[in-house]
Amino acid sequence: MSDPVSTLQTSRAVADVRVTIVVENQTDHIPPELFFPDASAEAVSRHKWLVPDFADDKGRIGLTVQAFVVETPTRTVVVDPCVGNGKTLEMPFWNEQQWPFWERFEAAGFAADDVDVVVHTHLHADHVGWDTRLVDGSWVPTFTRARHLYTEAALTWLRDPGGYDNANVLAQSVQPILDAGLADMVDEGADLGEGLRLAPSNGHTPGHVSLWIESADQTALLTGDFFHHPVQCAVPEWAEFGDFDPDEARATRRRMLHEAAEFGAIVFGTHFPTRPVGRIVADNDAWRFIPD
Ligand SMILES: [Zn+2]
Ligand SMILES: [Zn+2]
Repeated sequence: MSDPVSTLQTSRAVADVRVTIVVENQTDHIPPELFFPDASAEAVSRHKWLVPDFADDKGRIGLTVQAFVVETPTRTVVVDPCVGNGKTLEMPFWNEQQWPFWERFEAAGFAADDVDVVVHTHLHADHVGWDTRLVDGSWVPTFTRARHLYTEAALTWLRDPGGYDNANVLAQSVQPILDAGLADMVDEGADLGEGLRLAPSNGHTPGHVSLWIESADQTALLTGDFFHHPVQCAVPEWAEFGDFDPDEARATRRRMLHEAAEFGAIVFGTHFPTRPVGRIVADNDAWRFIPD
């Protein structure tokens, strides 16, 4: 049987760097208030440019979980490796899943041993999952050659037992990496070389970072979760239910949207459905996302 979501694997050049998107799961027709408490389907449906790629004509939204494989001239970098299979998570739609992500990753031409670096924009369950897989009852590293990058603030937050799913994410997806000696602590503005640079984009979680890519005359931005859906370009005030500090997240969204528009960056929206690659353009007092 064919894999319907595999058709969503896309690859985009940023001058000498190639970014390939591998989708884990997409859900459509979601009532927007489930993720954005201040939103409503009626308010979403006012932004007609969202239809059909990002919302349906009733104002219900799509959201995707996907990983990004960034190939520089010398390295393969995985960014935000999704939820993973068989993870024990409180979120029912993420718990104990068996998605064909790995089959898609390999179908896109990658192998675990190709990966040199893993970047985490933050340590929510849907950004660290494939760092480990279950082998003979133990969670073991997937990318056994890779350096896995963490910010100190993100790890400190993960170890706080107050967070949703934190204990399970730590035990199943992060501690095995630390124990294997595959972790590196990095600054929130770390220069990763070859035009790859982290930038602090706090608010969604402490220590949250986004990834800028500069290659020749092109600039790209892998967002992470400073926003979740293109509608937040039009309404940056709408917080996501998981935002740790909603006010800081709002300020970060406006700052990053401004920078992305200013630099004419190719934006890879981490949770954007269907057509996640495009540009941010100013639109009245806010912005709009124009997919490629
Ligand atoms: Zn998140
Ligand atoms: Zn996320």
